[in-house]
Amino acid sequence: MSDGKYQYELVKNLSFVRFGGTDDERRAGDILMSEVEKAGGSGRFMEFSIPAWEFKSYSARVTEPFERSLDVEPYGLSGQLPEGGSDFKFLYAERCTPEDLCGYDDLSGFAVLINQLDYDAYKLLCERHAGAFLVVYGKYYDTPDTTDILPRSLRPEFLKLGKIPGFMVRASDATEMVRLKAEKIHLELRQWEGEHVSRNLIAEIPGTSGSPETIVLTAHYDSVLVGTGSWDNATGAAAIMALYRDFINNPPARTLRFIWCGSEEQGLFGSHAYVRDNPQEVENTVFCFNFDMNGTVLGPNRITVTGNEALLSMASQISRELGFSANISQRVHSSDSAPFADAGVPAVGISRGTTSAEIHSRHDVLYPLCPEQMGALEEFAAAFIGRIANAVFMPVDRVMPENMKKELDKYFLRDKAGDEK
Ligand SMILES: [Zn+2]
Repeated sequence: MSDGKYQYELVKNLSFVRFGGTDDERRAGDILMSEVEKAGGSGRFMEFSIPAWEFKSYSARVTEPFERSLDVEPYGLSGQLPEGGSDFKFLYAERCTPEDLCGYDDLSGFAVLINQLDYDAYKLLCERHAGAFLVVYGKYYDTPDTTDILPRSLRPEFLKLGKIPGFMVRASDATEMVRLKAEKIHLELRQWEGEHVSRNLIAEIPGTSGSPETIVLTAHYDSVLVGTGSWDNATGAAAIMALYRDFINNPPARTLRFIWCGSEEQGLFGSHAYVRDNPQEVENTVFCFNFDMNGTVLGPNRITVTGNEALLSMASQISRELGFSANISQRVHSSDSAPFADAGVPAVGISRGTTSAEIHSRHDVLYPLCPEQMGALEEFAAAFIGRIANAVFMPVDRVMPENMKKELDKYFLRDKAGDEK
């Protein structure tokens, strides 16, 4: 039985901001490498570059018919405005659909406020040459004392459409701008855009059967820029380290490859890079177990199956067999298993969540977590993985059913962009 204490200690040691491509992420990777070595194994880092940015200056204020300075956070990689900023006409465009923009064919002189940034909205802003855009962030009662605006960058799929200087703006400011009928705003944004280096840590336990069939265990170890990323995802990184220690002295028939992925939060960059650069290894990969968020005192457990009905049944049978209570669903997990599933590898995500705690915020800290649940998850995962890794024949085929392929197209926005996979 695992008491989860090892994992909890490791989560504690990893509880600091570890944003992808920074020295802090590097430090977290080094901690994990030293744990692999302490366990008697060896690992290797795989480097890859990621888009990076740094804000030099930014500001936003309403200038007419009233004055109000706005609390904003720009989108990284969204380009910049001329030195000293620009004046824009203000337009509130609700859902940012053609209906909302009726009569506004050229938005080049406008800063457009929208409620939600999705692909279609951004595409329309690009097509109509919007000068800038603002997206409502949070609740009307949020203040800088109680919440942060989570810094983020524009997704690569969006940037293929074009670059528009963008900002997240607090809901209280957005409400007042619309209520008081703002007409003109002044926006300033200067940023450096370039590349940083991030790393995956890879460690392997060779199988005893000599079969090339491999099972990967993935967990991202980077975090967002606020909070300590304890739940998301120091817990997953610690979970697969505990499993590494469990299996290293008791190797199963098939090879286990552990991948601590870097830069997941900015767009699954680590897992994408791994899948892209290791086609032969991916070809031999017959299963992926992903760990993203676990160990909370309160639950429930969740199992996400990205695979066929047989795998879904199997996950439910194993949970029953082991007395593990979990919500089990068939869908694409928004985490590092997605690029593997996209390459045809059946994937299972094991996690634990509670609506009483929060990720991607200053509240993602150690407090809502406990060692007991980390131990319980380790027990369950070790049994599940052991059963698959030791099976005489793989109990599920390496296929991705049509419904999941469609979901993957949606998830990676290929249904919108019309790109070939
Ligand atoms: Zn995560």
